[in-house]
Amino acid sequence: MFTCKCEMCGMEFQTASNRAKYCKYCRDKVQVLRNRAYKEKKESGTAVKISSEQVCPLCGKTFTVTSGSQKYCKDCTPPRKKAPSNTEYLKGHYDYIRVNVPKCEREKIKEYAQSQGMSVNKLLLTALEEYRNNHS
Ligand SMILES: [Zn+2]
Ligand SMILES: [Zn+2]
Repeated sequence: MFTCKCEMCGMEFQTASNRAKYCKYCRDKVQVLRNRAYKEKKESGTAVKISSEQVCPLCGKTFTVTSGSQKYCKDCTPPRKKAPSNTEYLKGHYDYIRVNVPKCEREKIKEYAQSQGMSVNKLLLTALEEYRNNHS
């Protein structure tokens, strides 16, 4: 048996091999670190560089990388789903009521809504809510 000093924790330990560098507690840790370093190196090696030229694996055309996760050319990259626009959202969740207001009141109502930090729409809904609460 040899007595070695662990390079990680400095603890002396008994070992059958005179080339052992780490105690049995640190040996596992060292292996984990080594695996992680290897993995990181491998991943950074395969990550594509932005604005570098790549060959599309699907169609074989060369294209310029615009984002780190881009793997295919523009034609082969499936378009990302667009978030529904505000009007589409409104159509799906709200009905439209046209409200007539007395002449010259439009701007006043708008201004009032703004002073309350609301849209006119929100102001009317809030007013309706209050009316309901007070007249039930
Ligand atoms: Zn150790
Ligand atoms: Zn392509």
